[in-house]
Amino acid sequence: MFKPIINNMFLIISFMYITIKLKNIIIIKTKNKSIIKRLTPLAYSILSILIMQYPLSYKGIIFDLRTVPIFLVSYRLGFKAGILTSILPIIYRLFLGGSTTLQGVLLGILLPSILGSFFYRKEKTNHLIAKITIKKLLLTFLSFHFVHKFLLLITLDITIGFWFKISSIMILTSTISILCIALMINDDRENINLHKGLKYLSNHDYLTTLPNLRYFKSKVNNLLENDVPLVIAMLDIDYFKIYNDTNGHPAGDEVLRSLAQLLKDNTRTNMRRYKDYIARYGGEEFIICFSDINNIDFSYKLAERIRKSIENYPFKKEDSQPMDTLTVSIGLSTISYKKDLDKLIKEADKALYVSKSNGKNCVSIFNEDTLPKNT
Ligand code: GH3
Ligand code: MG
Ligand code: MG
Repeated sequence: MFKPIINNMFLIISFMYITIKLKNIIIIKTKNKSIIKRLTPLAYSILSILIMQYPLSYKGIIFDLRTVPIFLVSYRLGFKAGILTSILPIIYRLFLGGSTTLQGVLLGILLPSILGSFFYRKEKTNHLIAKITIKKLLLTFLSFHFVHKFLLLITLDITIGFWFKISSIMILTSTISILCIALMINDDRENINLHKGLKYLSNHDYLTTLPNLRYFKSKVNNLLENDVPLVIAMLDIDYFKIYNDTNGHPAGDEVLRSLAQLLKDNTRTNMRRYKDYIARYGGEEFIICFSDINNIDFSYKLAERIRKSIENYPFKKEDSQPMDTLTVSIGLSTISYKKDLDKLIKEADKALYVSKSNGKNCVSIFNEDTLPKNT
């Protein structure tokens, strides 16, 4: 006799499984997360209507698990989403008609929407990232059932015996359904977070948290493919071996981290249409891409600003350095016009060598004519 309710449960679980998978495909294809927020009420509305296709009919009264999706969407997205989700199911329930239409709308659709969103306000988390706290969800869902089943008893013309049986089976199957959905959503969140973590690790340097060379190259090659004029800068710490030998490797690592932060602070990573890119080139060498540069003197000014900020920054124990302060040498390539990245890196590297030969703590621009003979 209770087979339709059990079928409802399987329908909910399989529908939600497909929806979660579809959501990921939509995000990958459109790269737009806000679309999901808009589509979610529609998906839950469709599920509620599908559930109403397979009800348990008893003395003209319709029993089904439509409260599950409506409660869940209100619990996770709030009142507005809950009401939006309710519109189509209300219209469909009115269309089905029957002697208990009013109870069907009030108890089966509006009540879960109102109670669900009541608990949402207390939750206050970003539903697209946060995992669902299963214990809290189950407790709130059971409190909803308590109110719902009590109202069913006093508003419907059914015996206590039948009320007890239908309530037990509905509570059991809807709790299993909501638990399965929450587990599926949490599993999905965990996969997304793992994926994000792996992506971050594969694109960043573990010591400085700067992007790594692979990520840098892919971004800069994109700019070059779009003919964005740019200049490559190579930066190397002066006498860093002395710093390490005097203060130890961990202190040297700390310098690398502070220096990375100074580079971030002194480059235009958000300000313009084409942003600058920085990466750890390896060891104590860094590479910078000054994007959208049409005048080499301007890139020289940018590099000088970086050099000075490092010279003026009070690094710990920097009095171990020959000039009592920790400094860097910088080499600049020419403007990229029609050159590939490898060539620009070679130019910047040669210019860096010139800076080192000229006494360090300075910036040089690549110039074939002024290169020392052995470069
Ligand atoms: P120069 O002024 O000519 O650049 O001299 P230098 O001593 O800095 O020499 P070089 O550029 O060859 O620097 C290499 C040193 O950088 C060796 C090593 O002690 C240090 N180094 C490289 N990678 C790391 C790192 O990850 N952590 C620390 N602490 N030191 C590093
Ligand atoms: Mg070096
Ligand atoms: Mg060095």
